[in-house]
Amino acid sequence: MRYHANELIAAKRDGQTLSPAAIAWFVDGYTTGRVPDYQMSAMCMAIYFRGMDDIETAALLEAMLRSGDEVRWHDAPWRDGPLPTADKHSTGGVGDKISIPLAPAVAACGVAVPMISGRGLGHTGGTLDKLESIPGPGVDGQGGGFQTRLGVDVLKQLTAELGVCLIGQTDRICPADKKMYALRDASGTVPSIPLITASIMSKKLAEGVASLVLDVKVGSGAFMKTPEDARTLARALVGAGTEAGRKVTAFLSAMDRPLGTHVGNALEVAESIELLRGAGPADSRAVVCRLGGEMLRLSGRADSLQDGEARIGRALDDGSALQVFRRVVQAQGGDPRVCDAPLEVLPSAPVTRTVKAERDGVLSRCDALAVGLAAVHLGAGRQRAEDSIDPAVGFVFARQVGEEVTAGAPLVTIHAANDEDAAHAEQELRAAMTISDADTPSARLPLWIDEVHGADTSRGAT
Ligand code: URA
Repeated sequence: MRYHANELIAAKRDGQTLSPAAIAWFVDGYTTGRVPDYQMSAMCMAIYFRGMDDIETAALLEAMLRSGDEVRWHDAPWRDGPLPTADKHSTGGVGDKISIPLAPAVAACGVAVPMISGRGLGHTGGTLDKLESIPGPGVDGQGGGFQTRLGVDVLKQLTAELGVCLIGQTDRICPADKKMYALRDASGTVPSIPLITASIMSKKLAEGVASLVLDVKVGSGAFMKTPEDARTLARALVGAGTEAGRKVTAFLSAMDRPLGTHVGNALEVAESIELLRGAGPADSRAVVCRLGGEMLRLSGRADSLQDGEARIGRALDDGSALQVFRRVVQAQGGDPRVCDAPLEVLPSAPVTRTVKAERDGVLSRCDALAVGLAAVHLGAGRQRAEDSIDPAVGFVFARQVGEEVTAGAPLVTIHAANDEDAAHAEQELRAAMTISDADTPSARLPLWIDEVHGADTSRGAT
């Protein structure tokens, strides 16, 4: 069958269903350069407005997955025999550093986590930027601190050896998604459920993991602003993963306020290390334990979610998760002393400024989107993919939503590159936060909103 890109775009624009073969042709053409950016951009906009049914979405995902390699685990150089493999993906938010403590905690409980993560974009942070804030000798002494630009061979080797490796998308993992995501970001077509589903799941399936736990964020700081939209996305993601033979669970969790107390790259590594020492804020710890516990359950390493949560909690408390993280930092070129003295090893901002409460009451609102944007303006995030970031800047909240405050007590400390930035951030943070009378009913979302389970399948990945 001969296809013409302009006719396929027009068909989708007019609400027709595209065949799997036509979708595969279009994606393959885009990856190899036969279909130019402007035609893929128009196709994404047509999909944004017209949507895709389940068969079209599955075909798009398959085509994006087939644009590159799929990691196979049966031939990895396992030290003591193969481990079950699992990963976690969050749809992203503000202060969401969960992957950093979670991956080593899950590995400490006997499940391997080969994690391919992303960078921060817009108001959301990215795991790679956070990890790259750890200074150190680099891999093979080449400098540059913690390295995430590593290939699939290293991913396999380190995962088999240590139980974890955290890298970025390589040229060989879903190259179609890499090109399409940059294009969508520049053309207003990111928030489309079929496009998000194919983008996220193609990368996760390419990792070859048998189990996947998804954290679909809900609220102002998330892609999905309402529980209804988040549920629709969660069902699409779980459906696509289950169809591909993986065990998948999605949790819907709150992103109407920042997660945890630290926002900013090095600052979020510091909070992650607190969590790996059995301390840290209760909400972040609860998310590590819930998502990690479910990864253990799906992998057959826990009898129930509750059992899995308890195992993860023990790995955080007894130092075994921190021990795994220390080895990962060393293997990926960071300075492992960050685990003992994070504040001495991590970069620090030259200016700090403490914002104090103007009245007594309860912190009833701390808007995640506004905080995320304030962090970007400070230099912690990027507005365009090619922007550089300042690893040291960000915020440390002394109070979280729902906690009591007293006039004159610290609410948040701003870490900035200069006084002007700090003063601007203070204005933005004051506008992002509301202190109400202590008896005002809370309007915040519950931390856990819903969950979507896939049928447990026996096929799994190789
Ligand atoms: N994250 C992704 O990887 N892809 C999307 O489309 C949205 C979020």
